[in-house]
Amino acid sequence: MDLGIKDHVIIVTGGSKGIGEGICRCLAQERAMPVIVGRSPDEGGRLAEEFKSQGIDAIYIFAELADFSDCEYAVKQAVSHYGRINGLVNNAGVNDGVGLEKGTPEHFLKSLENNLHHYYYLAQLCLPWLKKFQGSIVNVSSKTALTGQGGTSAYAAAKGAQLALTREWAVELLKYNVRVNAVVPAEVMTPLYQKWLSGFKDPEQKLESIIRHIPLGNRMTTKEEMASAVVYLLSKQASHITGQFIFVDGGYVHLDRALAGTEL
Ligand code: NAP
Repeated sequence: MDLGIKDHVIIVTGGSKGIGEGICRCLAQERAMPVIVGRSPDEGGRLAEEFKSQGIDAIYIFAELADFSDCEYAVKQAVSHYGRINGLVNNAGVNDGVGLEKGTPEHFLKSLENNLHHYYYLAQLCLPWLKKFQGSIVNVSSKTALTGQGGTSAYAAAKGAQLALTREWAVELLKYNVRVNAVVPAEVMTPLYQKWLSGFKDPEQKLESIIRHIPLGNRMTTKEEMASAVVYLLSKQASHITGQFIFVDGGYVHLDRALAGTEL
């Protein structure tokens, strides 16, 4: 199937690591041009060089996305390099554990800056280009938006808001034929996930207990599986899909929890 995204310029926030890296690799396989935006210059720079060695004109742009001026800089750099933007993947985020009982109002707001505000900033900054090229936005949310997790109010609020914004923007941008969708991961092994897991007394046991509750295959979702869904949503093959939440989670959020540990 031809996804029809060859030479499309796609901004991927948090594209240096984890799910974002998977998305950039998948875009490169389709001969699209990933713009890797984030605050991990070593990994981001190396990834861009790797793509360049394959003949793909990828770039890495350093940005602390909590700062609007860095978001502005990233979009300006992308436009000055390529002269266009065809797609935006809002992906960067951190599950930073600002809870209700233990958090503070200051930490709550700071976490929203880290996890939510830049989704809006970048969508707005990219909009003129998305309108011009009938581009597409994919927001990476989280199961915590629907299931909760406990102890992470700000992150869950940000992830819920990202789903609300997906529908809101899908409606607002209908007139420009700009599509907006979300993907919802649950359990994907990434540097962020490893860090979260290492906070438990027995990380291995915790991981086992999680995997047991993932209905399809009792295994984690891979970042490649996340990436395939994102890149499909960006592509021409998804030309009549907008305002959707795609759960790439092996049935974790919606299927019967009584399935856990049963032989199928
Ligand atoms: P990851 O391994 O930590 O990768 C995320 C990347 O985003 C990192 O390079 C990180 O940089 C960057 N980043 C985060 N906040 C940033 C900011 N304010 N400015 C610039 N860069 C920033 O995380 P991941 O697991 O791939 O997560 C990607 C997305 O999926 C996130 O939105 C996350 O909430 C969501 N998600 C993941 C899972 C999962 O199981 N992994 C589940 C549900 C949702 P640093 O490393 O330098 O901080």
